[in-house]
Order: sequence, then structure tokens, then C-alpha cells
Amino acid sequence: ALNQSLSELHGQINVSFEFFPPRTSEMETTLWQSIDRLSGLKPKFVSVTYGANSGERDRTHSIIKDIKERTGLEAAPHLTCIDATKDELRTIARDYWENGIRHIVALRGDLPAGSGKPDMYASDLVALLREERDFDISVAAYPEVHPEAKSAQADLINLKRKIDAGASRAITQFFFDVESYLRFRDRCVTAGIEAEIVPGILPVSNFKQLQRFATMTNVRVPSWMSNMFEGLDDDAETRKMVGANIAMDMVKILCREGVKDFHFYTLNRAEMSYAICHTLGVRPAQG
Ligand code: FAD
Repeated sequence: ALNQSLSELHGQINVSFEFFPPRTSEMETTLWQSIDRLSGLKPKFVSVTYGANSGERDRTHSIIKDIKERTGLEAAPHLTCIDATKDELRTIARDYWENGIRHIVALRGDLPAGSGKPDMYASDLVALLREERDFDISVAAYPEVHPEAKSAQADLINLKRKIDAGASRAITQFFFDVESYLRFRDRCVTAGIEAEIVPGILPVSNFKQLQRFATMTNVRVPSWMSNMFEGLDDDAETRKMVGANIAMDMVKILCREGVKDFHFYTLNRAEMSYAICHTLGVRPAQG
């Protein structure tokens, strides 16, 4: 029944892909191979993350520019505000706009260890960007609650603040418990958030790395998932198949629940995201 409802949705699904700036020339080659393959699926947009260390901003900017030129796709840079002054952020925003960038993923960024209360939150960045130019703005949302939030309700109110400040969609932190996403989406509706809550899908191939990352980000890794990856530490190929299968199951259920937009954390690899998109009916144009 799940596959049947999926085939009825062909043509109605929108996807977007997230990449990060490569650190080596080898990684750069992989990135461009991935972008070339995934761009054939005509994503709604692709985004490039931004790290808070120096130099990364320029790299995000140049990759965004190259993606736009090479693929003609809508390319959205991520931008964080904890590491910059308001004047710097305004300059970056104007520069992006002048270079034809119309969509920004606006984030606060992670606080360095031991730092106090930040000067700016993502909602302040959204307001600043909106003041500058008429950007399309995406923000982050946390179905399983951001680790620093005082409560789930406070985190939800923060999301509403970001949308009210001018963001047009929220992209979620990755999750594996589909119910947690669905409950969160319901709570957003109840809170008066009308913007799309786009699920962030992380196709998992490196389970050990995921466990570390999930702990840091307050994402629950269900025991059934540990069970699925058990015994595969030295078997990357099978892990990839298992990971793709898990993500395919997730997107099928989400589709049945009315989700039409999906954001993929590609980790700069095309293979798994491409396969999952294929099962969603998102395929290259024929001919
Ligand atoms: P905010 O929305 O500002 O929220 C941060 C925390 O502060 C939350 O706990 C919130 O509840 C709380 N809060 C908000 N306002 C207030 C207030 N006024 N008073 C008290 N508490 C408040 N990081 C990067 O460095 N680079 C990236 O490119 C990047 N891309 C990401 C993409 C997505 C889709 C997601 C989900 C995350 C990404 N991150 C990235 C991680 C993100 O920067 C961290 O999760 C960060 O800790 C929070 O960012 P935010 O934009 O959600 O912050």
C-alpha cells in the first residue's frame, strides 16, 4: 500500500540537497561528481553549509557561485550569525544579493565551548536579512528539541519567531523516529506556524559516526536501528544498502502523511540520496 500511494505521487515531490565545503582536492572531486549527478534530478534548491572557522565563508560563497554557474540551480548558502558583527552580516547579504543569490539558510551556529549568552539568535539574523533585501529564507527546526532549549515549547516559540521574522520554510534536524517529526509538525500547526516543515533526511552509511553526531545534536537513534547495523562495522557496502533502505522506509511513510518536500543531508555523496529520490519518483527528465 505504501508503494502504491508513492507511485500516485510521481511528479509532486520536491527535493533539495545539502553539501559542505570540501577540505581536500579529492573531496572536491567527489563533491562535483555528486552535484553533477544530483542536479539531473532538478532539485528545488541546493544548499552549502557554512562553518564558523575563518576562511570557510569564502569557500561557501565560491562553491555557491560555481554551482549556480555550472548547473543553473537555485543555490542557497547557509549563513550563521554568532561569529560575525551585524555590519559584516549586512555586507555579506548585500554581496550575495548582487551575485544573484536569493535564498539563504539562516542559522545561529553552534556556540564555542564555554561561551556565554550569544548576542544574536537565528531570529535576529532572519530579521536582519529581511531588512537588507527580499531574500527567500529557510531556518532550522528541531523535532526532538534543540539541545540548548529550555523546553520543547520554548523551542517551538523560537521557531515561530523565526517564521514571523520572515522565514518561509523550516528544514528539520535529521531524525529517525518518524513519529517525532509528525508530532512536531502537528505542534507547529497548533502554534500557528503555517510554513512548510521540510524533513531533513540523513541517509546513514557510517553508523558509528552517526551515533557520535546524534548524541551531540540530541537526536534519538532508535534501538531497531542499532540492531540493523549490528555486525556491519567492517562492511561498508552492506551498511550503505541498509542505510538506504531505512531512509526509503522513512520517506514512504512521510509521503503517506502528506509530506511533499524533502531535504537531503548528502554529506557530499550522491549515491544514496539519488536512490532514495528514485523511489520517490524523482528522476532525471527523459530524452
Ligand atoms: P536558534 O534558532 O537561534 O536557536 C538556538 C537555541 O537558542 C535554541 O535552543 C533556541 O530554543 C534558543 N533560543 C532562541 N532564541 C532565544 C532567546 N531569545 N533566548 C533564549 N534562548 C533562545 N551550523 C553551522 O555552523 N553551519 C551550518 O551551515 C549549519 N547548517 C544547519 C542546517 C540545518 C538544516 C540545521 C537543522 C542545523 C544547521 N546548523 C549549522 C547547526 C545550527 O547552527 C545549530 O543547531 C545551532 O546550535 C542552532 O542554530 P539555530 O539557527 O537553530 O539557532
